[in-house]
Amino acid sequence: MTTLASIKDFFSSFLLLELFKGLKLTGKHFLSPTITVQFPEEKTPQSPRFRGLHALRRYENGEERCIACKLCEAVCPAMAITIESEVRDDGSRRTTRYDIDLTKCIFCGFCEESCPVDSIVETHIFEYHGEKRGDLYFTKDMLLAVGDRYEPVIAASKAADARYR
Ligand code: SF4
Ligand code: SF4
Repeated sequence: MTTLASIKDFFSSFLLLELFKGLKLTGKHFLSPTITVQFPEEKTPQSPRFRGLHALRRYENGEERCIACKLCEAVCPAMAITIESEVRDDGSRRTTRYDIDLTKCIFCGFCEESCPVDSIVETHIFEYHGEKRGDLYFTKDMLLAVGDRYEPVIAASKAADARYR
């Protein structure tokens, strides 16, 4: 370090210049609007396209939408979806098994994009967790239950995004 730099450094420390620089920055932001969100009491806005917990939807008459075409299973890059199906007496095809292993899922949204009947969707829900092995393995009944519970919100998100599709 040169002599000039040493003198400059000495006066800088002696006059507490760094401290005042810091206080200046604090003062600048002291009265400006806060951007800290007090989660979970406060939440940030969510896009209708938010990709959270999966759900299987039903039609208004209660019939499940899924026609067991297996497009979602085929397109899933994480191979997280497992489907088995059967043909009913009336000739319609429905799943007998529809599982998603959320520990494999990368929340890419491909399953939702590929579904021809808007059956599998990713909801706005992100506050969920598992405490033991298998808790995040969602079966058809669990996925349908999520869909049944949140259908009004899911339908509203779909409607809000419809004009961009
Ligand atoms: S969001 Fe992506 S990774 Fe997850 S189940 Fe759907 S297709 Fe698979
Ligand atoms: S959820 Fe959709 S894409 Fe997947 S099997 Fe059912 S109808 Fe086909």
